[in-house]
Amino acid sequence: MLDSTETKEDNIQPHFKFDNSYARSLESFFKFCQAEPAVAPQMLQFNHALAEELGLDPLALDSDAGLAIFSGNVAPEGSEPLAQAYAGHQFGGFSPQLGDGRALLLGEVIDTQQRRRDIQLKGSGRTPFSRGGDGKAAIGPVLREYLIGEGMHALGVPTTRALAAVTTGNNVYRESLLPGAILTRVSSSHIRVGTFQYGSARGDEGKVRELADYAIKRHYPDTADAENPYLAFFDAVSDAQASLVAHWMNIGFIHGVMNTDNMTISGETIDYGPCAFMDNFAQGTVFSSIDQYGRYAYANQPVILSWNLTRLAETLVRFIDPDKEKAIEIMTDRVERIQPLYEKYWLAGMRSKIGLTTEDPLDKKLINDLLEVMEKGHADFTLVFRRLSQALRGDSDAVRNLIEEPAAFDAWAQRWRERLEQEGVATETNAQAMDRVNPIYIPRNHKVEEALAAATEQQDMQPFSNLLAVISHPFDEIVGKEAYAEPAPETNIPYRTFCGT
Ligand code: AMP
Ligand code: MG
Repeated sequence: MLDSTETKEDNIQPHFKFDNSYARSLESFFKFCQAEPAVAPQMLQFNHALAEELGLDPLALDSDAGLAIFSGNVAPEGSEPLAQAYAGHQFGGFSPQLGDGRALLLGEVIDTQQRRRDIQLKGSGRTPFSRGGDGKAAIGPVLREYLIGEGMHALGVPTTRALAAVTTGNNVYRESLLPGAILTRVSSSHIRVGTFQYGSARGDEGKVRELADYAIKRHYPDTADAENPYLAFFDAVSDAQASLVAHWMNIGFIHGVMNTDNMTISGETIDYGPCAFMDNFAQGTVFSSIDQYGRYAYANQPVILSWNLTRLAETLVRFIDPDKEKAIEIMTDRVERIQPLYEKYWLAGMRSKIGLTTEDPLDKKLINDLLEVMEKGHADFTLVFRRLSQALRGDSDAVRNLIEEPAAFDAWAQRWRERLEQEGVATETNAQAMDRVNPIYIPRNHKVEEALAAATEQQDMQPFSNLLAVISHPFDEIVGKEAYAEPAPETNIPYRTFCGT
Protein backbone atom coordinates (compact mmCIF):
# COMPACT_ATOMS: atom_id res chain seq x y z
CA MET A 1 0.00 0.00 0.00
CA LEU A 2 1.17 3.52 -0.76
CA ASP A 3 0.92 5.92 2.14
CA SER A 4 -0.78 9.23 1.52
CA THR A 5 2.44 11.20 0.96
CA GLU A 6 3.85 8.84 -1.68
CA THR A 7 2.83 8.98 -5.29
CA LYS A 8 2.81 5.94 -7.46
CA GLU A 9 5.73 7.35 -9.48
CA ASP A 10 7.96 7.62 -6.39
CA ASN A 11 7.50 3.95 -5.85
CA ILE A 12 8.68 2.79 -9.27
CA GLN A 13 12.32 1.75 -9.14
CA PRO A 14 14.54 1.47 -12.16
CA HIS A 15 14.81 -2.24 -12.19
CA PHE A 16 17.36 -4.19 -14.12
CA LYS A 17 16.83 -7.85 -13.41
CA PHE A 18 20.42 -8.90 -13.82
CA ASP A 19 21.47 -12.45 -14.51
CA ASN A 20 25.23 -12.37 -14.95
CA SER A 21 26.25 -15.51 -16.77
CA TYR A 22 29.60 -14.14 -17.97
CA ALA A 23 30.68 -13.29 -14.41
CA ARG A 24 29.59 -16.74 -13.26
CA SER A 25 31.18 -18.73 -16.06
CA LEU A 26 34.37 -17.14 -17.31
CA GLU A 27 36.50 -15.95 -14.42
CA SER A 28 39.71 -15.99 -16.46
CA PHE A 29 38.25 -13.50 -18.91
CA PHE A 30 37.56 -10.45 -16.72
CA LYS A 31 38.40 -8.45 -13.63
CA PHE A 32 35.83 -6.95 -11.29
CA CYS A 33 36.11 -3.19 -10.91
CA GLN A 34 34.09 -0.04 -10.28
CA ALA A 35 33.22 3.08 -12.23
CA GLU A 36 34.89 6.35 -11.27
CA PRO A 37 32.54 8.96 -9.76
CA ALA A 38 30.97 11.54 -12.05
CA VAL A 39 30.98 14.97 -10.39
CA ALA A 40 27.90 16.54 -12.01
CA PRO A 41 26.11 14.12 -14.32
CA GLN A 42 23.44 15.17 -16.78
CA MET A 43 21.30 13.10 -19.10
CA LEU A 44 21.88 13.88 -22.76
CA GLN A 45 19.73 11.26 -24.41
CA PHE A 46 17.76 8.25 -23.29
CA ASN A 47 16.40 5.54 -25.56
CA HIS A 48 12.82 4.87 -24.45
CA ALA A 49 12.08 2.35 -27.19
CA LEU A 50 15.16 0.28 -26.37
CA ALA A 51 14.37 0.42 -22.64
CA GLU A 52 10.95 -1.05 -23.38
CA GLU A 53 12.47 -3.73 -25.55
CA LEU A 54 14.71 -4.63 -22.61
CA GLY A 55 11.68 -4.94 -20.36
CA LEU A 56 12.58 -1.83 -18.39
CA ASP A 57 10.40 1.05 -17.30
CA PRO A 58 11.59 3.97 -19.46
CA LEU A 59 10.10 6.64 -17.23
CA ALA A 60 11.71 5.19 -14.16
CA LEU A 61 15.11 5.21 -15.86
CA ASP A 62 14.89 8.56 -17.65
CA SER A 63 15.24 10.13 -14.21
CA ASP A 64 17.71 11.06 -11.49
CA ALA A 65 17.85 7.45 -10.41
CA GLY A 66 18.65 6.39 -13.98
CA LEU A 67 21.21 9.16 -14.32
CA ALA A 68 22.99 7.90 -11.20
CA ILE A 69 23.28 4.49 -12.84
CA PHE A 70 24.26 5.66 -16.34
CA SER A 71 26.92 8.00 -14.96
CA GLY A 72 28.48 5.19 -12.95
CA ASN A 73 27.71 6.82 -9.60
CA VAL A 74 25.41 4.05 -8.44
CA ALA A 75 25.89 0.38 -9.25
CA PRO A 76 22.35 -0.92 -9.73
CA GLU A 77 21.19 -3.77 -7.57
CA GLY A 78 22.28 -7.12 -8.93
CA SER A 79 25.01 -5.70 -11.14
CA GLU A 80 28.52 -7.12 -10.88
CA PRO A 81 30.63 -4.53 -12.70
CA LEU A 82 33.58 -6.00 -14.53
CA ALA A 83 36.03 -5.22 -17.30
CA GLN A 84 36.41 -7.96 -19.89
CA ALA A 85 39.80 -9.24 -20.98
CA TYR A 86 40.67 -9.66 -24.62
CA ALA A 87 43.60 -9.58 -26.98
CA GLY A 88 43.60 -8.60 -30.61
CA HIS A 89 45.31 -7.91 -33.88
CA GLN A 90 45.34 -4.17 -34.40
CA PHE A 91 46.19 -3.19 -37.97
CA GLY A 92 47.74 -6.62 -38.33
CA GLY A 93 49.98 -6.47 -35.24
CA PHE A 94 49.13 -8.70 -32.28
CA SER A 95 48.55 -7.31 -28.78
CA PRO A 96 48.19 -10.19 -26.31
CA GLN A 97 46.52 -7.96 -23.75
CA LEU A 98 43.95 -5.28 -24.56
CA GLY A 99 40.68 -5.61 -22.66
CA ASP A 100 38.05 -3.09 -21.63
CA GLY A 101 40.20 -0.09 -20.86
CA ARG A 102 37.28 2.30 -20.71
CA ALA A 103 34.23 0.08 -20.43
CA LEU A 104 32.47 -1.69 -17.62
CA LEU A 105 29.96 -4.49 -18.01
CA LEU A 106 27.22 -3.92 -15.45
CA GLY A 107 25.55 -7.23 -16.17
CA GLU A 108 23.11 -9.05 -18.41
CA VAL A 109 19.35 -8.83 -18.71
CA ILE A 110 16.87 -11.00 -20.55
CA ASP A 111 14.83 -8.82 -22.88
CA THR A 112 11.15 -9.04 -23.77
CA GLN A 113 11.97 -11.47 -26.58
CA GLN A 114 13.94 -13.72 -24.23
CA ARG A 115 17.28 -12.57 -25.65
CA ARG A 116 20.21 -12.13 -23.29
CA ARG A 117 21.70 -8.62 -23.61
CA ASP A 118 24.77 -7.00 -22.03
CA ILE A 119 24.43 -3.61 -20.36
CA GLN A 120 27.78 -1.85 -20.49
CA LEU A 121 29.04 1.60 -19.53
CA LYS A 122 31.61 3.00 -21.94
CA GLY A 123 33.76 5.87 -20.67
CA SER A 124 33.28 5.27 -16.94
CA GLY A 125 36.94 5.49 -15.94
CA ARG A 126 40.04 3.40 -15.56
CA THR A 127 40.01 -0.38 -15.30
CA PRO A 128 42.77 -2.96 -14.77
CA PHE A 129 43.08 -2.98 -18.60
CA SER A 130 43.44 0.75 -19.14
CA ARG A 131 47.20 0.67 -19.74
CA GLY A 132 48.15 4.33 -20.38
CA GLY A 133 44.59 5.50 -21.09
CA ASP A 134 42.31 7.54 -18.85
CA GLY A 135 39.34 5.19 -19.26
CA LYS A 136 37.16 8.11 -20.23
CA ALA A 137 35.18 9.22 -23.26
CA ALA A 138 34.41 12.67 -24.62
CA ILE A 139 30.93 13.85 -25.47
CA GLY A 140 31.46 13.94 -29.27
CA PRO A 141 32.43 10.31 -29.81
CA VAL A 142 29.75 9.13 -27.35
CA LEU A 143 27.03 10.91 -29.31
CA ARG A 144 28.56 9.71 -32.54
CA GLU A 145 28.31 6.09 -31.42
CA TYR A 146 24.72 6.72 -30.29
CA LEU A 147 23.69 8.19 -33.64
CA ILE A 148 25.40 5.79 -35.98
CA GLY A 149 24.48 2.71 -33.95
CA GLU A 150 20.81 3.68 -33.90
CA GLY A 151 21.00 4.57 -37.60
CA MET A 152 22.46 1.14 -38.37
CA HIS A 153 19.76 -0.56 -36.33
CA ALA A 154 17.07 1.27 -38.28
CA LEU A 155 18.77 0.21 -41.51
CA GLY A 156 18.36 -3.40 -40.40
CA VAL A 157 22.04 -4.01 -39.69
CA PRO A 158 22.86 -6.09 -36.59
CA THR A 159 24.53 -3.75 -34.13
CA THR A 160 25.22 -2.86 -30.54
CA ARG A 161 22.86 -0.11 -29.44
CA ALA A 162 22.71 2.93 -27.18
CA LEU A 163 20.45 3.00 -24.15
CA ALA A 164 21.68 6.30 -22.73
CA ALA A 165 24.24 9.05 -23.17
CA VAL A 166 25.17 11.24 -20.21
CA THR A 167 27.76 13.89 -19.51
CA THR A 168 29.75 13.34 -16.33
CA GLY A 169 30.73 16.88 -15.40
CA ASN A 170 34.35 15.67 -15.49
CA ASN A 171 36.76 17.01 -18.06
CA VAL A 172 38.55 14.79 -20.50
CA TYR A 173 41.96 15.72 -21.83
CA ARG A 174 42.26 15.11 -25.57
CA GLU A 175 43.74 17.62 -28.03
CA SER A 176 41.79 20.12 -25.97
CA LEU A 177 39.76 19.92 -22.77
CA LEU A 178 36.40 18.31 -23.51
CA PRO A 179 33.28 17.44 -21.53
CA GLY A 180 33.40 13.81 -20.39
CA ALA A 181 30.53 11.50 -21.24
CA ILE A 182 29.40 7.90 -20.88
CA LEU A 183 27.50 5.75 -23.32
CA THR A 184 25.39 2.90 -22.02
CA ARG A 185 25.83 0.24 -24.65
CA VAL A 186 23.57 -2.74 -25.16
CA SER A 187 24.77 -5.77 -27.07
CA SER A 188 23.92 -9.41 -27.43
CA SER A 189 27.36 -9.92 -25.88
CA HIS A 190 30.77 -8.31 -26.02
CA ILE A 191 32.65 -11.52 -26.85
CA ARG A 192 35.03 -10.89 -29.72
CA VAL A 193 37.48 -12.77 -31.87
CA GLY A 194 40.01 -11.10 -29.57
CA THR A 195 38.47 -12.79 -26.51
CA PHE A 196 39.38 -16.17 -28.01
CA GLN A 197 42.83 -14.87 -28.86
CA TYR A 198 43.29 -13.83 -25.23
CA GLY A 199 42.80 -17.40 -24.02
CA SER A 200 44.81 -18.84 -26.85
CA ALA A 201 47.76 -16.48 -26.36
CA ARG A 202 48.04 -17.77 -22.80
CA GLY A 203 48.32 -21.31 -24.10
CA ASP A 204 45.34 -22.34 -22.02
CA GLU A 205 43.37 -24.87 -24.03
CA GLY A 206 40.91 -25.48 -21.20
CA LYS A 207 40.05 -21.80 -20.94
CA VAL A 208 39.50 -21.42 -24.68
CA ARG A 209 37.23 -24.45 -24.58
CA GLU A 210 35.25 -22.93 -21.68
CA LEU A 211 34.87 -19.73 -23.67
CA ALA A 212 33.80 -21.61 -26.79
CA ASP A 213 31.27 -23.65 -24.81
CA TYR A 214 29.91 -20.47 -23.27
CA ALA A 215 29.68 -18.69 -26.64
CA ILE A 216 27.97 -21.70 -28.20
CA LYS A 217 25.37 -21.80 -25.46
CA ARG A 218 24.79 -18.08 -25.56
CA HIS A 219 24.83 -17.37 -29.30
CA TYR A 220 24.51 -20.53 -31.34
CA PRO A 221 22.87 -23.14 -29.10
CA ASP A 222 21.96 -25.36 -32.08
CA THR A 223 25.61 -25.97 -32.84
CA ALA A 224 25.97 -27.79 -29.51
CA ASP A 225 24.24 -30.78 -31.10
CA ALA A 226 26.48 -30.90 -34.17
CA GLU A 227 28.91 -33.75 -34.69
CA ASN A 228 31.70 -31.30 -33.91
CA PRO A 229 30.21 -28.32 -32.06
CA TYR A 230 33.39 -26.20 -32.41
CA LEU A 231 33.41 -26.59 -36.16
CA ALA A 232 29.70 -25.81 -36.36
CA PHE A 233 30.30 -22.83 -34.09
CA PHE A 234 33.02 -21.53 -36.38
CA ASP A 235 30.69 -21.91 -39.37
CA ALA A 236 27.93 -20.05 -37.53
CA VAL A 237 30.20 -17.13 -36.62
CA SER A 238 31.48 -17.05 -40.23
CA ASP A 239 27.94 -16.95 -41.52
CA ALA A 240 26.89 -14.13 -39.19
CA GLN A 241 29.98 -12.07 -39.97
CA ALA A 242 29.83 -12.67 -43.72
CA SER A 243 26.24 -11.50 -43.71
CA LEU A 244 27.16 -8.48 -41.59
CA VAL A 245 30.03 -7.30 -43.80
CA ALA A 246 27.88 -7.82 -46.91
CA HIS A 247 25.29 -5.58 -45.28
CA TRP A 248 27.90 -2.88 -44.68
CA MET A 249 29.02 -3.08 -48.30
CA ASN A 250 25.43 -2.83 -49.49
CA ILE A 251 24.90 0.47 -47.69
CA GLY A 252 28.31 2.08 -48.26
CA PHE A 253 29.41 1.75 -44.64
CA ILE A 254 33.09 1.77 -43.73
CA HIS A 255 33.80 0.47 -40.24
CA GLY A 256 37.30 1.90 -40.19
CA VAL A 257 38.90 -0.22 -37.48
CA MET A 258 38.22 -3.88 -38.17
CA ASN A 259 40.76 -5.12 -35.64
CA THR A 260 40.05 -8.59 -34.29
CA ASP A 261 39.08 -7.08 -30.94
CA ASN A 262 36.34 -5.18 -32.78
CA MET A 263 34.80 -8.22 -34.43
CA THR A 264 32.02 -9.80 -32.42
CA ILE A 265 31.16 -13.47 -32.16
CA SER A 266 27.46 -12.56 -32.31
CA GLY A 267 27.74 -10.86 -35.71
CA GLU A 268 26.80 -7.41 -34.42
CA THR A 269 28.61 -4.28 -35.57
CA ILE A 270 30.64 -2.93 -32.65
CA ASP A 271 32.84 0.09 -31.92
CA TYR A 272 31.73 3.10 -33.88
CA GLY A 273 35.01 4.95 -33.60
CA PRO A 274 36.27 6.08 -37.00
CA CYS A 275 33.44 4.62 -39.07
CA ALA A 276 31.52 6.62 -41.67
CA PHE A 277 29.20 6.28 -44.61
CA MET A 278 30.58 7.03 -48.03
CA ASP A 279 29.20 9.89 -50.12
CA ASN A 280 30.73 9.66 -53.60
CA PHE A 281 31.37 6.07 -54.45
CA ALA A 282 35.01 4.97 -54.51
CA GLN A 283 36.20 1.46 -53.69
CA GLY A 284 39.34 2.75 -51.97
CA THR A 285 37.57 5.09 -49.56
CA VAL A 286 39.22 5.41 -46.13
CA PHE A 287 38.10 7.91 -43.49
CA SER A 288 40.17 6.98 -40.46
CA SER A 289 43.11 9.28 -39.79
CA ILE A 290 45.19 6.38 -38.47
CA ASP A 291 44.51 3.96 -41.34
CA GLN A 292 47.49 5.21 -43.35
CA TYR A 293 47.75 2.27 -45.72
CA GLY A 294 44.05 1.71 -46.28
CA ARG A 295 43.95 -1.68 -44.58
CA TYR A 296 40.30 -1.07 -43.66
CA ALA A 297 39.26 0.71 -46.87
CA TYR A 298 35.75 0.04 -48.18
CA ALA A 299 36.74 -2.59 -50.73
CA ASN A 300 39.07 -4.33 -48.29
CA GLN A 301 36.41 -5.11 -45.71
CA PRO A 302 35.52 -8.54 -47.15
CA VAL A 303 39.21 -9.48 -47.28
CA ILE A 304 39.63 -8.48 -43.64
CA LEU A 305 36.53 -10.48 -42.76
CA SER A 306 38.37 -13.64 -43.85
CA TRP A 307 41.62 -12.52 -42.27
CA ASN A 308 39.96 -11.97 -38.89
CA LEU A 309 38.00 -15.20 -38.99
CA THR A 310 41.22 -17.04 -39.79
CA ARG A 311 42.53 -15.71 -36.47
CA LEU A 312 39.45 -17.20 -34.79
CA ALA A 313 40.00 -20.49 -36.62
CA GLU A 314 43.53 -20.65 -35.22
CA THR A 315 42.18 -20.56 -31.67
CA LEU A 316 39.71 -23.38 -32.35
CA VAL A 317 41.78 -25.69 -34.52
CA ARG A 318 42.94 -27.84 -31.60
CA PHE A 319 39.31 -28.83 -30.91
CA ILE A 320 38.60 -29.94 -34.46
CA ASP A 321 40.46 -33.23 -34.72
CA PRO A 322 43.05 -35.08 -32.62
CA ASP A 323 45.11 -35.41 -35.80
CA LYS A 324 46.68 -31.95 -36.09
CA GLU A 325 47.28 -32.11 -39.83
CA LYS A 326 43.72 -33.21 -40.45
CA ALA A 327 42.38 -30.43 -38.18
CA ILE A 328 44.32 -27.83 -40.13
CA GLU A 329 43.04 -29.23 -43.40
CA ILE A 330 39.44 -29.07 -42.20
CA MET A 331 39.79 -25.51 -40.89
CA THR A 332 41.56 -24.32 -44.04
CA ASP A 333 38.65 -25.58 -46.07
CA ARG A 334 36.21 -23.77 -43.78
CA VAL A 335 38.11 -20.51 -44.08
CA GLU A 336 38.09 -20.83 -47.86
CA ARG A 337 34.30 -20.97 -47.78
CA ILE A 338 34.01 -17.50 -46.26
CA GLN A 339 34.51 -15.45 -49.44
CA PRO A 340 31.90 -17.40 -51.47
CA LEU A 341 29.54 -17.10 -48.51
CA TYR A 342 30.15 -13.37 -48.29
CA GLU A 343 29.62 -13.03 -52.01
CA LYS A 344 26.31 -14.87 -51.78
CA TYR A 345 25.06 -12.36 -49.19
CA TRP A 346 26.48 -9.39 -51.05
CA LEU A 347 24.93 -10.44 -54.32
CA ALA A 348 21.54 -11.09 -52.74
CA GLY A 349 21.63 -7.63 -51.16
CA MET A 350 22.72 -5.93 -54.37
CA ARG A 351 20.13 -7.77 -56.45
CA SER A 352 17.37 -6.44 -54.26
CA LYS A 353 18.85 -2.94 -54.42
CA ILE A 354 18.45 -2.91 -58.18
CA GLY A 355 15.05 -4.56 -58.05
CA LEU A 356 15.89 -8.11 -59.07
CA THR A 357 14.01 -10.99 -57.52
CA THR A 358 15.48 -13.86 -59.51
CA GLU A 359 19.04 -15.00 -60.17
CA ASP A 360 20.91 -14.76 -63.43
CA PRO A 361 24.61 -15.60 -63.85
CA LEU A 362 25.22 -12.18 -65.40
CA ASP A 363 23.83 -10.25 -62.40
CA LYS A 364 27.20 -9.92 -60.70
CA LYS A 365 28.64 -8.24 -63.79
CA LEU A 366 25.60 -6.01 -64.12
CA ILE A 367 26.03 -4.82 -60.53
CA ASN A 368 29.78 -4.34 -60.77
CA ASP A 369 29.31 -2.36 -63.96
CA LEU A 370 26.92 -0.02 -62.17
CA LEU A 371 29.48 0.45 -59.40
CA GLU A 372 32.07 1.28 -62.03
CA VAL A 373 29.77 3.85 -63.65
CA MET A 374 29.19 5.35 -60.19
CA GLU A 375 32.88 5.49 -59.33
CA LYS A 376 33.91 7.02 -62.65
CA GLY A 377 31.01 9.45 -62.45
CA HIS A 378 31.77 10.49 -58.81
CA ALA A 379 28.19 9.69 -57.87
CA ASP A 380 26.68 9.56 -54.41
CA PHE A 381 26.32 5.91 -53.34
CA THR A 382 23.11 6.26 -51.34
CA LEU A 383 21.27 8.54 -53.73
CA VAL A 384 22.06 6.57 -56.90
CA PHE A 385 20.47 3.44 -55.47
CA ARG A 386 17.55 5.34 -54.00
CA ARG A 387 16.81 7.12 -57.25
CA LEU A 388 16.84 3.98 -59.37
CA SER A 389 13.25 3.48 -58.29
CA GLN A 390 12.46 6.93 -59.66
CA ALA A 391 13.99 5.89 -62.97
CA LEU A 392 11.65 2.91 -62.99
CA ARG A 393 8.75 5.25 -62.37
CA GLY A 394 9.73 7.25 -65.45
CA ASP A 395 12.06 9.93 -64.07
CA SER A 396 15.59 8.96 -65.13
CA ASP A 397 17.01 12.45 -64.72
CA ALA A 398 16.99 12.21 -60.94
CA VAL A 399 19.67 9.53 -61.07
CA ARG A 400 21.39 10.70 -64.27
CA ASN A 401 22.03 14.10 -62.66
CA LEU A 402 24.11 12.44 -59.97
CA ILE A 403 26.58 11.02 -62.48
CA GLU A 404 29.22 13.12 -64.18
CA GLU A 405 28.95 11.23 -67.47
CA PRO A 406 25.31 10.21 -67.71
CA ALA A 407 25.80 8.47 -71.08
CA ALA A 408 27.60 5.63 -69.30
CA PHE A 409 24.63 5.32 -67.00
CA ASP A 410 22.19 5.30 -69.92
CA ALA A 411 24.01 2.39 -71.53
CA TRP A 412 23.94 0.51 -68.22
CA ALA A 413 20.28 1.35 -67.62
CA GLN A 414 19.37 -0.14 -70.98
CA ARG A 415 20.83 -3.51 -69.92
CA TRP A 416 19.21 -3.19 -66.51
CA ARG A 417 15.74 -2.64 -67.99
CA GLU A 418 16.16 -5.63 -70.26
CA ARG A 419 17.11 -7.77 -67.26
CA LEU A 420 14.08 -6.47 -65.32
CA GLU A 421 11.79 -7.29 -68.22
CA GLN A 422 12.83 -10.94 -67.93
CA GLU A 423 11.24 -10.94 -64.49
CA GLY A 424 7.97 -9.31 -65.43
CA VAL A 425 7.31 -7.79 -62.01
CA ALA A 426 4.96 -4.78 -62.11
CA THR A 427 6.97 -1.55 -62.14
CA GLU A 428 5.37 0.08 -59.11
CA THR A 429 5.63 -3.09 -57.03
CA ASN A 430 9.28 -3.27 -57.90
CA ALA A 431 9.93 0.42 -57.21
CA GLN A 432 8.31 0.11 -53.79
CA ALA A 433 10.38 -2.96 -52.94
CA MET A 434 13.52 -1.06 -53.91
CA ASP A 435 12.56 1.85 -51.67
CA ARG A 436 12.36 -0.55 -48.77
CA VAL A 437 16.02 -1.58 -49.16
CA ASN A 438 17.65 1.61 -50.47
CA PRO A 439 17.65 4.19 -47.69
CA ILE A 440 17.02 7.85 -48.37
CA TYR A 441 18.52 8.97 -45.05
CA ILE A 442 21.84 7.78 -43.69
CA PRO A 443 23.88 9.49 -40.97
CA ARG A 444 25.56 11.88 -43.40
CA ASN A 445 29.01 12.89 -42.17
CA HIS A 446 28.41 16.64 -42.25
CA LYS A 447 25.08 16.24 -40.44
CA VAL A 448 26.68 14.08 -37.77
CA GLU A 449 29.46 16.63 -37.30
CA GLU A 450 26.94 19.47 -37.12
CA ALA A 451 24.98 17.65 -34.40
CA LEU A 452 28.10 16.86 -32.38
CA ALA A 453 29.45 20.40 -32.65
CA ALA A 454 26.17 21.89 -31.41
CA ALA A 455 26.07 19.48 -28.47
CA THR A 456 29.72 20.01 -27.57
CA GLU A 457 30.09 23.73 -28.12
CA GLN A 458 26.61 25.10 -27.41
CA GLN A 459 25.10 22.38 -25.22
CA ASP A 460 22.40 22.30 -27.89
CA MET A 461 20.98 18.81 -28.44
CA GLN A 462 18.36 19.91 -30.98
CA PRO A 463 20.39 19.11 -34.14
CA PHE A 464 21.20 15.69 -32.62
CA SER A 465 17.50 15.00 -31.93
CA ASN A 466 16.48 16.13 -35.40
CA LEU A 467 19.06 13.93 -37.07
CA LEU A 468 18.25 10.95 -34.85
CA ALA A 469 14.57 11.26 -35.74
CA VAL A 470 15.28 11.22 -39.46
CA ILE A 471 17.79 8.36 -39.50
CA SER A 472 15.52 6.27 -37.28
CA HIS A 473 13.23 5.91 -40.32
CA PRO A 474 15.78 5.73 -43.12
CA PHE A 475 13.47 4.41 -45.82
CA ASP A 476 10.58 6.85 -45.36
CA GLU A 477 10.92 10.04 -47.35
CA ILE A 478 9.59 13.03 -45.41
CA VAL A 479 8.63 16.33 -47.03
CA GLY A 480 10.74 19.11 -45.53
CA LYS A 481 13.67 16.85 -44.64
CA GLU A 482 15.42 17.08 -48.02
CA ALA A 483 18.56 18.55 -46.46
CA TYR A 484 19.16 15.29 -44.60
CA ALA A 485 19.25 13.34 -47.85
CA GLU A 486 21.77 15.60 -49.55
CA PRO A 487 25.48 14.82 -49.71
CA ALA A 488 27.87 17.24 -48.02
CA PRO A 489 28.56 20.44 -49.92
CA GLU A 490 31.64 20.00 -52.12
CA THR A 491 34.92 20.82 -50.39
CA ASN A 492 38.53 20.02 -51.14
CA ILE A 493 39.13 18.77 -47.65
CA PRO A 494 38.64 15.00 -47.37
CA TYR A 495 36.50 13.86 -44.44
CA ARG A 496 38.60 12.41 -41.62
CA THR A 497 37.55 10.41 -38.59
CA PHE A 498 39.35 9.66 -35.33
CA CYS A 499 39.42 6.64 -33.07
CA GLY A 500 39.29 7.83 -29.50
CA THR A 501 35.99 7.51 -27.76
P1 AMP B 1 39.39 0.59 -29.96
O1 AMP B 1 40.39 0.83 -31.04
O2 AMP B 1 38.51 1.75 -29.72
O3 AMP B 1 38.64 -0.66 -30.18
O4 AMP B 1 40.23 0.41 -28.61
C1 AMP B 1 41.35 -0.44 -28.53
C2 AMP B 1 41.79 -0.66 -27.09
O5 AMP B 1 42.21 0.56 -26.49
C3 AMP B 1 40.73 -1.24 -26.19
O6 AMP B 1 41.35 -2.16 -25.35
C4 AMP B 1 40.24 -0.04 -25.41
O7 AMP B 1 39.71 -0.40 -24.17
C5 AMP B 1 41.52 0.77 -25.27
N1 AMP B 1 41.26 2.21 -25.09
C6 AMP B 1 40.87 3.09 -26.02
N2 AMP B 1 40.69 4.33 -25.50
C7 AMP B 1 40.99 4.23 -24.18
C8 AMP B 1 41.02 5.15 -23.09
N3 AMP B 1 40.69 6.44 -23.24
N4 AMP B 1 41.40 4.68 -21.88
C9 AMP B 1 41.73 3.40 -21.71
N5 AMP B 1 41.73 2.47 -22.69
C10 AMP B 1 41.36 2.88 -23.92
MG1 MG C 1 37.30 -1.83 -29.47
